[in-house]
Amino acid sequence: KRRDPDQPEFHQAVEEVLRSLWPFLEAHPHYLEAGIVERIVEPERAILFRVPWVDDQGKVRVNRGFRVQMSSAIGPYKGGLRFHPSVNLGVLKFLAFEQVFKNSLTSLPMGGGKGGADFDPKGKSDGEVMRFCQSFMSELYRHVGADLDVPAGDIGVGGREIGFMFGQYKRLANEFTSVLTGKGLTYGGSLIRPEATGYGCVYFAQEMLKRQNQGFDGKRVAISGSGNVAQYAAQKVMELGGKVISLSDSEGTLFAEAGLTPEQWDYLMDLKNVRRGRISEMAAHFGLQFLAGQRPWRLACDIALPCATQNELDADDARALLKAGCICVAEGANMPSTLEAVDLFIEAGILYAPGKASNAGGVATSGLEMSQNAMRLHWTAGEVDQRLHGIMQNIHHACVHHGEEQGRINYVKGANIAGFVKVADAMLAQGVV
Ligand code: NDP
Repeated sequence: KRRDPDQPEFHQAVEEVLRSLWPFLEAHPHYLEAGIVERIVEPERAILFRVPWVDDQGKVRVNRGFRVQMSSAIGPYKGGLRFHPSVNLGVLKFLAFEQVFKNSLTSLPMGGGKGGADFDPKGKSDGEVMRFCQSFMSELYRHVGADLDVPAGDIGVGGREIGFMFGQYKRLANEFTSVLTGKGLTYGGSLIRPEATGYGCVYFAQEMLKRQNQGFDGKRVAISGSGNVAQYAAQKVMELGGKVISLSDSEGTLFAEAGLTPEQWDYLMDLKNVRRGRISEMAAHFGLQFLAGQRPWRLACDIALPCATQNELDADDARALLKAGCICVAEGANMPSTLEAVDLFIEAGILYAPGKASNAGGVATSGLEMSQNAMRLHWTAGEVDQRLHGIMQNIHHACVHHGEEQGRINYVKGANIAGFVKVADAMLAQGVV
């Protein structure tokens, strides 16, 4: 905190991990003696660069680009790119730090990284987005590579942006390699990658519920966000017989008391991915309630899936959810719950899954995309989905194994210990680097 006082999200992420890891570290002091903790909180490398581009009016604009290469202990750096005005070094360090543990949990050989820019794609034309992406990649290309660092999407970076960046990388590096994941199907993408984070989150929640002989069938599920993760979480919940009662964006919450219908879900996909509209338009179109400026956590629900952004669920929201009888919170977003909210969920003994466990399906399927690219073949949707499901079950199993606490499972502790051990052991083996 003394070194980087202006990085509160990063401090929050480190505190969450170290609080639950500490008793384990005291019981295994060789990790402390080898300085693993001091090393793991410092990025191996952080790159900051200028991204100049020209808007549709011919005006020169300048954004700030970043890539944080946090840890390569168990594989090439891997983690998404975020384009959002709130992006800064602290936010990306928090995301890269979480990514290290998450990637380790998937059991695939991937290190951790994260990047992006303070660019806002909202309201920009396709031409502007393309010119921005090309300029961004014109610098980034020298720092990434199929065996070095393989970025993917995140907030504000979907199929369109990945395509533009891939095109520019190929042009500059003169090679067709797996340098990005989340690619389109015509040029090396994997089936189920768009669905993977949302589906994976629901698969993880399903495993937690199963241990209590419960399922999604007939449950009211509050979802926040309306982007990539929220869309496919909603689809899977509906497939499993759950009732999706909300979606949201930064302007407010759509409340669908009777549960989202397949027709409404199709509308959502077109609205967000083709027309790039707002969730209030969907509420107006179907005559559903729109709660302007509100988040979904005051709605009575059985299960909550926060799928928008960090710190979108605070202590008051947690109290409201608990009071309304919510039994399960599985995070699709990264660190959506504040530390206080997490404490309340754990104290109350409800099922609570931290993002690094429950949203790992996205990066896991990115790992599967890399494998398919390396083998130059293509798995079917069924094959990828089956592997994704298996990986989420394994992550759940690892959390249960390390998180058992007085007859309950503390998934925060389980995920942090399971993720840490593999990375720390690899660091010990590789000496002080
Ligand atoms: P998208 O850009 O597709 O969607 C983001 C959604 O969150 C939008 O509905 C957006 O609303 C909302 N949102 C973003 N910022 C805010 C904010 N400050 N306040 C309120 N709402 C906000 O991103 P993704 O769905 O890909 O990512 C969502 C979360 O999931 C992020 O935390 C991301 O890190 C995490 N994640 C994503 C993975 C992936 O594979 N895509 C993998 C693992 C984690 P609006 O349009 O108004 O901004």
